[in-house]
Amino acid sequence: MQELVEVQGIIFKRQRYKESDLLAKIMTKDHGIITMIVKGALKPKSKLGAASLNFSYGKYIIYSSGHGLSTLRTYKEVKQFDQIYLDLEKSAYASFVLDLIDHAFVEYAPIGKYYDLAKFALDHIDRGTDPEVLTQIVQMQLLPAFGVGPQMEACVICGKKQGVFDYSLRYGGIICEDHFASVTDRMHLTAKETALLRTFALLPIERLGNVQVKEQNKKATRKAIDQIYRSSLDLNLKTKKFIDELRLF
Ligand SMILES: [Zn+2]
Repeated sequence: MQELVEVQGIIFKRQRYKESDLLAKIMTKDHGIITMIVKGALKPKSKLGAASLNFSYGKYIIYSSGHGLSTLRTYKEVKQFDQIYLDLEKSAYASFVLDLIDHAFVEYAPIGKYYDLAKFALDHIDRGTDPEVLTQIVQMQLLPAFGVGPQMEACVICGKKQGVFDYSLRYGGIICEDHFASVTDRMHLTAKETALLRTFALLPIERLGNVQVKEQNKKATRKAIDQIYRSSLDLNLKTKKFIDELRLF
């Protein structure tokens, strides 16, 4: 049975459905990811269409049975991440962040703190914080949601928490320098780069503020994160390929 539900969320994917209707995906705080039919959205002057543009967020009132397609009925207090919507690079990163979350969860499964993580990242991308750093933070913090929980707190082998570390794909976490000689697959990251990876993974996002990372370090952590993702997940997201292509120009 369908009932009216008010959800708070962010619109992130749209596709044509039938005639002038479209399907829009919304990532919600309490009801997970939902695909909803937006009737008449493609007609000129459609208010529902305007409220369900990508990167719109607010309260949406939907008919839903808790599975399958829901239907957008009306909305209130809808705003848009304007800077993301207008900027190719920002929207590329924001789309990738939301795409990752979309792949980490099935529809209607609560996503809890990951909603706050995505909302935080989008707020800051919109305000002009380095989108790549925010994206790397999301990537690291999202790994446990994919069932990949790299050990970033302490050396995987001896449990040491302070010192100089590197990352090992085989061990699935950080290793301290006592084992640098014996762990042959370590990534050869600098102490600073591993420290950054740990910060990205462990620091509560509300404490990150405006993180500034040198281009060279960012490149190294990007490479490491790409390797962690490639070795443990089979995602191949178009939104990721698009970012990699953007970087070539
Ligand atoms: Zn150790």
